[in-house]
Amino acid sequence: MNIDQNENSYRLLINNASEMFWVLDLATQRFTYVSPAAEYIRGYSPVEMLEHSLYQVLSSESGQYIQNVLPSRIQRFQQGVPETYIDELQLTCKDGSLIWTEVTSRIALNPENGHLEGYGVARDISERLQIEQQVRQLSQAVQQSPASIVITSPAGDITYVNPKFTEVTGYTYEEALGKNPRILKTEITPPEVYTDLWQTLSSGKVWRGEFCNRKKNGELYWEFASISPILDRNGAVTSYVAVKEDITERKEKDLALQAANEQLSRQLVEIQSLQAALREQAIRDPLTGLYNRRYLYETLGQEFARLRRKSQPLSILMLDFDHFKNLNDRHGHAAGDAILQKLADLLLCQTRKGDTVCRYGGEEILIAMPNTPLEQAQQRAAELVEKISSQNIAFEGHWLSITVSIGVAAFPQHGETIDEVIRAADQAMYHSKVAGRNRATVYAL
Ligand code: GH3
Ligand code: MG
Ligand code: MG
Repeated sequence: MNIDQNENSYRLLINNASEMFWVLDLATQRFTYVSPAAEYIRGYSPVEMLEHSLYQVLSSESGQYIQNVLPSRIQRFQQGVPETYIDELQLTCKDGSLIWTEVTSRIALNPENGHLEGYGVARDISERLQIEQQVRQLSQAVQQSPASIVITSPAGDITYVNPKFTEVTGYTYEEALGKNPRILKTEITPPEVYTDLWQTLSSGKVWRGEFCNRKKNGELYWEFASISPILDRNGAVTSYVAVKEDITERKEKDLALQAANEQLSRQLVEIQSLQAALREQAIRDPLTGLYNRRYLYETLGQEFARLRRKSQPLSILMLDFDHFKNLNDRHGHAAGDAILQKLADLLLCQTRKGDTVCRYGGEEILIAMPNTPLEQAQQRAAELVEKISSQNIAFEGHWLSITVSIGVAAFPQHGETIDEVIRAADQAMYHSKVAGRNRATVYAL
């Protein structure tokens, strides 16, 4: 189609354009031509619009504006300066609303009637203005955001920071511009964080995480950042936007809480070990470290019930050292104490796991042997007598020796209850004394 030679072609273009073409007689202020787009833009058909005067078509503000600028434009035209004007004008619509248009116009002389004419094109720009408005709103939100916002180029150079960024970091907009956000980096943020960050961003995803950063004045602060790549229509990164929240306070509280928790658990451990020590003290004899009588009755009662249920044996050895009074008298009470301690250690070495060695009275010691039948207990009692009598015990430059009398009794042979078995062992021990001491005797029914 050769549009230079074909007026119909021009008509076709004009009739199908979404822009409204118009010609206005400046003398009558009426339109002499309006293209079909009038219907699309204002809702009036071209025929209806030809009935409208210029000031009916324009909103009162835009009408006022044209009224102000028109005389000087006409004057300039008459001075022979042909000019093109671009104005943003608001038009009235058939439904009573107003619509913003961008109007490009010129002034010309109609040779037929000698009138001056305005002619031009009006384009609906309401959508563009709406977008502009949105952009203004968004930039206002970014400016006033309580979060720091940083925008960088794909290469990582800062192209924008908001006032909150300046407030947090101390770097002004001008100082930050063109720099890499690396200016904030510290060694405290683990290197994996940055690896993860770049991996996530380069796969086109949003990254979220925490940084420990350094302000311009050297102070450290923590922030939670959400960084997104901004892509163009072709999917290429045009920029990165980081929205960051200062979480130093929360982080410090967390750290303080953690420290308090650690201290608390240390104290707890200390309390537990003190409690354990106290429990130990409550069940041990302070001189020898052997269990005391209270512990014996507490545990042996339970142990005995268990053995009885399972029909398992229990043997009791009752030990009483011979002529201990003489030893005290000859070498002093302290010597007696020291000997008792050494004998206690010796007995602990000689007994087995599961046996309970208990300081039953002054120099009387009871050994409970669960799961040990009478014959075995008798054997072990004889070994103890032998071991103790052959022992030389050093005390303040002297070698002291001692013997022991032992009574042996066992469940089930010698008693139905624990007290009965202990009593039997005690009597057997007495028999050892009577029989000349330094021996073990089994209870005889
Ligand atoms: P035997 O048993 O052979 O008949 O004579 P013994 O001298 O050992 O008589 P007994 O068992 O009746 O007396 C125990 C003595 O042990 C009396 C007491 O002074 C002494 N003794 C008891 N407990 C302690 C103690 O903790 N330390 C000291 N040093 N002596 C104690
Ligand atoms: Mg005694
Ligand atoms: Mg004694």
